[in-house]
Amino acid sequence: MKRYSRRTILFSAALPIARGQNPAAPYDLLVRGGHVVDPSQGISAVRDVAIAKGKVARIAESIPETEAVQIVDARGKIVTPGLIDVHVHVYDGVAPLGIPADPNCIAKGVTTVLDAGSSGAHTFPGLRKYVINVVDTRVYALLNISVVGQSTLSPGNQWGELIDLRLANTKLTIKTIEQNRDRILGVKIRLTENIAGRHDLDALKMAREAAEAVRLPLMVHIGGTFSTLPKILDLMRKGDVITHTFRQEAGGILDDRGRVLPEVKRAVANGIRLDVGHGAGSFGWAVAESALKQEVLPGTISSDVHQYNVHGPVLDLATTLSKFLHLGLTLEQVIERATRNPAETFDFPRGLGTLAPGSEGDVSVFKLEQGDFELFDSVKQPRVVHRRLLPVATIKAGRIYGSASIPVVTL
Ligand SMILES: [Zn+2]
Repeated sequence: MKRYSRRTILFSAALPIARGQNPAAPYDLLVRGGHVVDPSQGISAVRDVAIAKGKVARIAESIPETEAVQIVDARGKIVTPGLIDVHVHVYDGVAPLGIPADPNCIAKGVTTVLDAGSSGAHTFPGLRKYVINVVDTRVYALLNISVVGQSTLSPGNQWGELIDLRLANTKLTIKTIEQNRDRILGVKIRLTENIAGRHDLDALKMAREAAEAVRLPLMVHIGGTFSTLPKILDLMRKGDVITHTFRQEAGGILDDRGRVLPEVKRAVANGIRLDVGHGAGSFGWAVAESALKQEVLPGTISSDVHQYNVHGPVLDLATTLSKFLHLGLTLEQVIERATRNPAETFDFPRGLGTLAPGSEGDVSVFKLEQGDFELFDSVKQPRVVHRRLLPVATIKAGRIYGSASIPVVTL
């Protein structure tokens, strides 16, 4: 008879985990019977996923329980590659908007994140020492063109990191990236009025120069800028990323009549990518609805989760993904934008965002809950959504996150 541990761990609904009968089994872990959604392999079906030595070993319709040492029962759940969130702020304690990575990322099904510009050349060494090297979440970074990163802006001090252009430093940005290529995957610049002021295009040119010198993408935060979006887009290149695409307020992608600017469509056709970056002020239901009707879809869905939105309206990446389910994207389209697409947009190490055999053993398990749930955008507008993804368990490199305290029961 099967007996399962029912002890609740860090997750809202812990999965039954059992010890298999064969301690010498070829697989360390078997995620059994879940609906696997892995757009990188075109899989959306009930499958078993076996992990050995921290890597995905096999995906099949049925893998016997006797072949695994530990079994996670994922029947009735959604199983995906470990999610990748390309816009978060996890420089906790240095950037005022920073939050601790693990409770907000890996505990919520996000195994890999890109800290989007919390650090600059002067503060990246600290991000590396005190965050990247010590947390369980895989943390990569985009380096802010300002040497101070996002250490200046808080509700009590409204001046951003580029309020004085002398804080932007192309040479130091390039040098820091060259020294940390294993963790820095691009350059970040934020361009609203209180951050970059009237010299936004000059700052953007410096960020562009740095990104070109290191041959990495540039992520540009838009909205409320002194210069118009078309002028900003003029300075962007193939592979660069616009974040805050569906921002409601001034400086967004729509004209006064709600049409997507032709310059935005042209930029997308030229290989510039659109990222969501929900954030505290950068996702409007109405803008997203309008853009999707005009067939402008985001390439990546990211949360921009930070101190000022983690308690709402963002909460976590799964909630942001649920908003796009409500907007009409399929489950497969939504998962693709948080797995395969981020892995292709930025130069993460191979084997992330996919469950192809040989890739990292990063697996996320979600419950797709049905019901009526009120979710808010960044301008306090509600929508009642009928499905939401709830993180249930996360496996990183073959290890169940937070499971150390769970007694595992032998069958
Ligand atoms: Zn951000």
